Amino acid sequence: MSNPQTPTTRTYAAWFAHARKCEECKSVTKAADGCETGRALWQTYQLACVGANMGGGK
Ligand SMILES: [Zn+2]
Repeated sequence: MSNPQTPTTRTYAAWFAHARKCEECKSVTKAADGCETGRALWQTYQLACVGANMGGGK
């Protein structure tokens, strides 16, 4: 549990923490179909993923 936090894990944890408590986000099958807050958190996570991929390079 002492893994270094990356933007990807941090933003995912933020969404997950919300989705656990949010009835609307819990009831949908895709995070993108959640409530406004859930969708905003998910979009932040997606952007972090894109940023991480670009930072990783190939
Ligand atoms: Zn929600």
